[in-house]
Amino acid sequence: MSRYIPKPSPNFDARTRPIDLVVLHYTGMQNADIALARLTDPGPVAGNYPGPWQSDDVEADAPLVRVSTHYVVDEAGQVYSLVAEEHRAWHAGVASWEGDGDINARAIGIEIVNGGHDFDLPDFTDAQIGSVIALLKEIFGRWPQLNAKRVVGHSDVAPARKADPGEKFPWRRLADAGVSFWPRPTSDELDNDDPISAAQQQLAFIGYGVTQTGYADEATRAAIVAFQRRFRPSDLSGHLDEETRRLLAAVARIIKQ
Ligand SMILES: [Zn+2]
Repeated sequence: MSRYIPKPSPNFDARTRPIDLVVLHYTGMQNADIALARLTDPGPVAGNYPGPWQSDDVEADAPLVRVSTHYVVDEAGQVYSLVAEEHRAWHAGVASWEGDGDINARAIGIEIVNGGHDFDLPDFTDAQIGSVIALLKEIFGRWPQLNAKRVVGHSDVAPARKADPGEKFPWRRLADAGVSFWPRPTSDELDNDDPISAAQQQLAFIGYGVTQTGYADEATRAAIVAFQRRFRPSDLSGHLDEETRRLLAAVARIIKQ
């Protein structure tokens, strides 16, 4: 605990449900100082800061565009503690996972300092990812209900709005360290009669906010892109090709285990 640098943010309120999720983000800003200022500002003026936060990232009942997170991890791997884990921080905004929309009420948020898509997707640093892994292990130690399957990206819970932590985030390295998981495409027979319906069932089972419409609606396509961004980052087409289908089946099986 002591290695976290305290950087208290006033932007939080009470949790309304138990913690059962960790959401990873990139900050999408130039540097750690700007991100920390934004995430601890009690009354920012809209438009004062660049970055990915939008009005719908803010709690409906919160004052104008106040945002926060539990932790920030900078490029050197330093971890800053902004909001106590027991409190609800404001980082996920309009989102959905496993049919539930109040992600902030149940999630611990980790903002990883990285310029993101607005700054040409810089690499995450080794030290930074090492610290994220260590931090996740410490969080798992404090909350036994959290484990490798309970860590998601912001883009997973808000596929239509968000692309962070981005396709360059090394989920596989996290899986190797035991704080995430990495699927191998299943060799099972695929459901070729109605692949969209099968994919919608699997996406919803994994947690994505899709409806069983039976056709490739907007939400389904966005969820497929989010799934690819995380598990098959070389192709973000949103196309339900065979590899994507095999990976979907594999992830659904891992979640079911
Ligand atoms: Zn985010």
